[in-house]
Amino acid sequence: MSHLTIRRKCVVFNEEFTSKSSKDIYCSKLCFKRNWRKQQKENIIVVPKVKPIIAKDDLLSKHYLSVKEAVVFFEISEVTLRRLIK
Ligand SMILES: [Zn+2]
Repeated sequence: MSHLTIRRKCVVFNEEFTSKSSKDIYCSKLCFKRNWRKQQKENIIVVPKVKPIIAKDDLLSKHYLSVKEAVVFFEISEVTLRRLIK
């Protein structure tokens, strides 16, 4: 056995492997790929679809409300509101 080989544990499955470099953290390229993919998945930032938010407080200062704003203000559905307008 060479003095240069180091027994290490793979970061993916925690299995032992021998390495010549103390920097190795994967037992194989396969584990490297697996861990890389895992990291890629975890790094994905889910960007929520942003809806324009109408705050009630903003509407209080308004003299005129659009249908969409009125829906927010009176907390009723747009259909109900349109019926009331008719
Ligand atoms: Zn491994």
